[in-house]
Amino acid sequence: MQNTQQNVRPVALVTGGGRGIGRAICTQLAAQGFDICINYAGNAAAAEETAALCTAFGAAAFTVKADVAKAEEVEQLIGATVAQFGHIDVLVNNAGITRDGLMMRMSEQDYDQVLDTNLKGAFLCCKAVCRPMMRQKFGRIINLSSVVGVRGNAGQANYAASKAGLIGLTKSLAKELAGKNITVNAVAPGFIETDMTHAMPEAARQSTLASIPMGHTGSAEDVARAVAFFAAKENSYITGQVLCIDGGMAV
Ligand code: NAP
Repeated sequence: MQNTQQNVRPVALVTGGGRGIGRAICTQLAAQGFDICINYAGNAAAAEETAALCTAFGAAAFTVKADVAKAEEVEQLIGATVAQFGHIDVLVNNAGITRDGLMMRMSEQDYDQVLDTNLKGAFLCCKAVCRPMMRQKFGRIINLSSVVGVRGNAGQANYAASKAGLIGLTKSLAKELAGKNITVNAVAPGFIETDMTHAMPEAARQSTLASIPMGHTGSAEDVARAVAFFAAKENSYITGQVLCIDGGMAV
């Protein structure tokens, strides 16, 4: 356990850790001495590449396929992490999807899929790590919200609802776990270059760029450094916070 035993490497589980921001979080934490469980939904090759990047930093890393929207698979994911490393110090709820469209044309299925993955997935993972973290009397939970959850965005009612919901979940769980030496915080990225944003139509990309005071997109590493800040055991007196990493978009 990170807080009580010397010379035991801390362990982080990153959902959706195979690609994009998740991969950058895995490698950042691996570089800082964490062992890593990399969860993925379908892209095993990307997850294995991330594992190789982590082991290059001297970390132990392994991959687990699990759909975070499914309770049984989440239980297996947390169980596999604890079985592999003996403990779990950090949970990063990074897995996320978009199914964009104007509300009047948005299908119920697109709404449900986004809420199930982005919000219910984080709920299930938080619920599953509560017990081992409370037993350890230590934990760090970091949720990936979005500037869209803070400001809203036309064409992303489902995604914005999920990301705003994550802020409420973060603040509520922070209060529930504050007395247990477990912090719960959120990061809210703006426009970050990943597969998710590369799928945006060019017109949407240009109008989003125009709304960034710094005038340019951010990198996955920009987000990963903020996640690592919240993950650090030294940062023990910060909980329930939402940190925007967005070049000023939410200001
Ligand atoms: P991305 O490149 O599309 O990667 C998404 C990751 O989530 C993939 O690793 C994917 O796994 C995983 N995933 C999707 N559904 C899953 C499920 N049901 N169970 C487990 N894993 C699942 O996205 P990204 O841009 O890196 O975004 C990462 C997080 O940051 C998301 O929560 C996103 O909403 C948030 N965010 C991103 C931006 C941005 O500008 N990019 C801005 C604000 C917030 P596979 O690799 O197996 O498919």
